Amino acid sequence: MRRAFPGIVASKGLALGRARVREPHGLDVEEQRIAPDRVEQECRLLHEALEAARAELRELRARIHGAIAHEVGEFLDLHAMLLDDPELVDGLDDLIRTGHYSAAYALRLQRDRLASVFDDLDDPYLRSRREDIDHVIGRVYAALHSGTQPELAGLAGEILVSESIAPAELAQLHEEGVIAVVTAQGSPLSHSAILARSLHLPLVVGSHDALLHVNDGDALLVDAIEGRIIVEPDADDLARFRAAKDEVRREQRALTRLRKAKTRTADGVEVRLWANAESREDVSQALGLGAAGVGLYRTEFLFLQRREVPGEEEQFHAYRDLVLGMDGRPVTIRTLDLGADKADSTGLALEHETNPALGLRGVRLCLARPELFRVQIRAILRASAYGPVRILIPMVSRAGELRDCRRILERCHRELRDEGHALGPPPPLGAMIEVPAAALALDRLLPEADFCSVGTNDLIQYLLAADRGHDTLASLCDPEHPAVVRVLTEISATCRKAGKPVAVCGELAGDPRYTEFLLRLGLTDLSMHPASLLEVRQAVRACTLGGREDEDHEESPGP
Ligand code: PEP
Ligand code: MG
Repeated sequence: MRRAFPGIVASKGLALGRARVREPHGLDVEEQRIAPDRVEQECRLLHEALEAARAELRELRARIHGAIAHEVGEFLDLHAMLLDDPELVDGLDDLIRTGHYSAAYALRLQRDRLASVFDDLDDPYLRSRREDIDHVIGRVYAALHSGTQPELAGLAGEILVSESIAPAELAQLHEEGVIAVVTAQGSPLSHSAILARSLHLPLVVGSHDALLHVNDGDALLVDAIEGRIIVEPDADDLARFRAAKDEVRREQRALTRLRKAKTRTADGVEVRLWANAESREDVSQALGLGAAGVGLYRTEFLFLQRREVPGEEEQFHAYRDLVLGMDGRPVTIRTLDLGADKADSTGLALEHETNPALGLRGVRLCLARPELFRVQIRAILRASAYGPVRILIPMVSRAGELRDCRRILERCHRELRDEGHALGPPPPLGAMIEVPAAALALDRLLPEADFCSVGTNDLIQYLLAADRGHDTLASLCDPEHPAVVRVLTEISATCRKAGKPVAVCGELAGDPRYTEFLLRLGLTDLSMHPASLLEVRQAVRACTLGGREDEDHEESPGP
């Protein structure tokens, strides 16, 4: 019988196939106590299972290659690191030795304890890391029982329906030829979601009902555009599916033709599209699609999920590779934008904050910890010897912060020159405009900034007092709210008057539904994930600005 269930789109696409349901792993074990004389044996079994899980990860690491090796490798390394984490392993030993619990029940207790720590985090990205804990512990649990992970083979052409999915499993499933994945848990911010998007594998998460009602062998239609799962689709569903698939194919063909096309409106206004790039793949994709440069490189990705803060050499190599990868096009490196909550997962011992979104984050953290900032600035300056670099400062709210940053920048430049390092010309220093105060008093800030980049993700969240990661507040974060329109119009006009280049680098810039809206506000430099570049280029080319509200079409100076 036909049934339809909602879900959240984590990776866009359409698929029709047989369902393969993977039952949730049995981690909901009942309390099991063991006799004191079994403690050693239970600890041994646990450590054998940990070792088996490590070996599985090593084997997977060796097997995965090609374009996904870099990304999947990072997830596998993270999971391997979790498996070695003394907090996890010692805690398990302790539960067996002092609590006299079975290894299986100790795993469950540890999973629940760590999961509740993650659930309490304010940051949605870090909260979604809870999945990694589930997957790692699930792997050990499976090894404890059968010696292997639940079977993922023989799924070619099928759709996996599962409680959750680990990034490493996703890579395996992709190799196997799985055509889509539906999970009961998960968030579009998870590592698995990021990976599914790179693999172009449709993924719908948060579909609790699907897991309850889908059976092995059911015909399943996954609409990862609208966010819908249809079990046993009827003739109308199938006709709609075929039409939607044809439409997607047509769109993709049309987009591919735009790889080398100019980014210019129908009435001749030049628009520059930049890339928000983090990985090597992003950089080569950006270059291949004709991005003007990297408009936003979020350096915090170098700092997350590790115990040590990356040193100058490590950062220098990362930034140099980025600059080299862009082959002479400008690269905008944003200095560290960690909130105190995110910093907890790094070697930065910072106080826990009750309201991290309003706390010691971005430039505030950098100025409070100048030794941290100096290392980063020195690394960026050294990378500037290899191509044009710009430095972008996040969470600026006052001119004095930019003055302080510039002083540090100039001092580091002098030091490096005296030490005999090769250096490029001093990089332009820009401000992220994402705090309403910076937007409203932009005329005071601009004399200190060489360029600006509007961070609409934060700007909209702070203007509308609506958490950007909150599922139920998503509709409040409306870019067309009159307050947002007014502020964006002001930013654009103030920058033009001062002759300072301005770009937009929040998610809004990569959403083709808002391209004309931004262009009409005079915002013609847009920075986005490379995957959105062609769609936005297409939207630009379809625009006729004619009487753009904000006057002339003269080209902005170029950030
Ligand atoms: C923004 O706030 O719009 C932005 C681009 O920065 P992030 O998403 O990293 O906060
Ligand atoms: Mg931001």
